[in-house]
Amino acid sequence: MLVTFEQALAIVKEKLSEECPKPSADILPLNQVQGRILAEGIAADRDYPPFNRSTRDGYAVRSADLRTLPATLECLGEVRAGEHFAGALGAGQCVRIMTGAPLPAGADAVVMVEHVRGEGSRPEVTRALGPFENVVRQGSEAARGSVVLRRGRRLEASEIGLLASVGRAQVRVFRQPRVAILPTGDEIVPFDQPPGPFQIRDSNAVMLAAQVAAAGGVPRQAGIARDDKEALRRLTQEGLESDLLLFSGGVSVGQYDFVGQVLDEMGGEFFVHGVAMRPGKPLLFGRLQRRFFFGLPGNPVSTYVTFALFVRPAIGMLGGATFEPPVFLRARLGKPHRQKLGLTMFVPARVETRDGDPIVNVVEWQGSGDLVGVAAANCFLVVHPDQTDLAAGEWVDVLPKGQ
Ligand code: AMP
Ligand code: MG
Repeated sequence: MLVTFEQALAIVKEKLSEECPKPSADILPLNQVQGRILAEGIAADRDYPPFNRSTRDGYAVRSADLRTLPATLECLGEVRAGEHFAGALGAGQCVRIMTGAPLPAGADAVVMVEHVRGEGSRPEVTRALGPFENVVRQGSEAARGSVVLRRGRRLEASEIGLLASVGRAQVRVFRQPRVAILPTGDEIVPFDQPPGPFQIRDSNAVMLAAQVAAAGGVPRQAGIARDDKEALRRLTQEGLESDLLLFSGGVSVGQYDFVGQVLDEMGGEFFVHGVAMRPGKPLLFGRLQRRFFFGLPGNPVSTYVTFALFVRPAIGMLGGATFEPPVFLRARLGKPHRQKLGLTMFVPARVETRDGDPIVNVVEWQGSGDLVGVAAANCFLVVHPDQTDLAAGEWVDVLPKGQ
């Protein structure tokens, strides 16, 4: 029975949250944790910032002194980043201050150097300030002991920078899930071998391996299964040593599409058996002997898109991450678009900025076998089942290709 795209995604989320034990963890140094999932919560080791920090080069002042302008102040000295001004400001006084330096006692704001006339001991301020203008207050980014990163967070560059700033040279991250990749098809030959006139190189296995690695999994190539049940059974059995099985091809209703049958005969449960979307309609999702599996349709664009939508968040959750669904952004449609009612469509497209607006146009492509079309695209136009007639200029959903 077909389910909608949204239902299929909700089923993946539900099944993986129910049945997914947290993986074991390793302690790794920060230069080895890119893309990994945090296995511990991280707390601030001190206030951030640790002192009231100037965000400008200028003068530390008392904002109350600037009620009448221009205000001529008495400059007591200077404070640089990394230093501390020993004294305190009284009425009518100021201290020259640099970006990153701590605000001296008695001061409550920093006036930018651009709003000061005359240097030296009697600078003249030409602009009024509110309290704590151009200052980040101590502890306002994070108070000491507060959680700055939760367990389950994926570590990208900014999170790694944050870990460094709170003094974590190494952290606990979850073990990455192993993902078996099982391409199927009598016509498929390994991509590094010459194909016969009617054979096709296996593009899906290596493409999926790249997607698995980007999603935080460890790909394992299982070899190509012929379209016969015995071969499929053997490869499936081997694949069960991994944490997740990805089949490509053989999930449709053709006479030699045996993946569903073999999984069924081996005792598999099916949670999704067909999605009202294109490409990707014959998608399978289920579980066999406590391992989840996806049967991805073999057309390379179908394989690519169904991975991005369903498998990527599943690998995240198997690796201990919180659910990270695909995010649709919005753009204006360049040329009108029509389609049949009732399916969610993902059409290779390019989004470009024109006159300040993101404009999306579909690229030329020949359907779900056409990787040339996808290579020319930087996103997919998402057309929802009720959007049969989209006009130029309408705001539409777009799935960026990098996800
Ligand atoms: P299937 O899902 O097995 O019916 O295959 C659909 C289409 O995708 C057919 O044209 C296959 O030749 C093609 N295909 C299947 N598997 C692969 C693969 N691993 N690499 C490239 N093309 C494939
Ligand atoms: Mg096939």
